[in-house]
Amino acid sequence: MFNVNKQYEKMYSTEQTLIQFKNINKTYDSFEVIKSLSFEVKKNDIVGILGPSGVGKSTILKLIAGLEKPTSGMLINNTHKVGYVFQEPRLLPWRTTLENVMLPLSMSGINKKESKDKAMFFLEKMGLGGFENYFPTQLSGGMLQRVSLSRAFALEPDLLLLDEPFSALDLRLKSVMETMLKELLEENPIPVLYVSHSPDEVVLFANRIFMMFAGGVIEELPVSEDDDFKEFLKDAFLI
Ligand code: ADP
Ligand code: MG
Repeated sequence: MFNVNKQYEKMYSTEQTLIQFKNINKTYDSFEVIKSLSFEVKKNDIVGILGPSGVGKSTILKLIAGLEKPTSGMLINNTHKVGYVFQEPRLLPWRTTLENVMLPLSMSGINKKESKDKAMFFLEKMGLGGFENYFPTQLSGGMLQRVSLSRAFALEPDLLLLDEPFSALDLRLKSVMETMLKELLEENPIPVLYVSHSPDEVVLFANRIFMMFAGGVIEELPVSEDDDFKEFLKDAFLI
C-alpha cells in the first residue's frame, strides 16, 4: 500500500487529468470529514473506492458532481457531463420510465427526438423495452435501478459516478446487474468512480482501487484478481 497523498504531493494537471483533488478539506458544521486529500483520476481510469460507512466516500462523489463545495483546497474538474447512479434509483414518480431517462438529456439541450432515441436505446439494452410508459411505482427494485443506469449512460457522460449502486438489491439481482454493467462499460468505455462496500464487486470493474479511512485518508492498492488479493481486501476491509 502507498499513501496517495504522498504520491501526489507534487501533482500537476495534465491533458489526461479528469479530476484532481489537491489538499481538499471538507467540513460539515465543525465535523471534518475530509482532511488535506489529494488524488487524481485520469481519463481512462475505472477507480473503485472502498471503505467503511461514514468515512466520506459519498462526499467525494458529491464534491465532484458539485452537490457539495470543498471547504478549502483545489478541485480541478475537466468533466462536462457527469452520470450519477445512487444506491436508490431517485426517479421522479410522476414521470414515466422514458421521461425519467430523457430528462437530463433534454436539460443538456439535446432535442426531443434524439433524447428519445438515446433513452430507448439504453432502456432496450437493459431489457426494459416495453416498459417505457410505466411509472416507477409499477416497476420492481431491480428494474428501477436499470432505469437509473440507463439514464446515466444515455447522457453519454465523460465520467460516471456510482455510489453503491447495487447494495440495496438481493444477491442474485446484484450479480445480474454487475454483469449488465460490465457489458455496458465494455461497449461504452467511460471513466468511472465506483464506491462500493464489496471488494468482490470492485475487483470486477476497477483498474485502480482506493481504500478510504477515517479523516478522508486514501491509500491506493495494487489491483489483482487473484484469490489471495481478494482475501486480503476482505480482511483489510473488516479492520
Ligand atoms: P460514506 O459514504 O463513506 O458512508 P459520507 O460521505 O456519506 O460517508 O459521510 C461522511 C460523514 O459526513 C458521515 O459521518 C456523515 O454523517 C457526515 N455527513 C455527510 N453529509 C453530511 C451533511 N450534509 N451534513 C452533516 N454531516 C454530513
Ligand atoms: Mg455513502
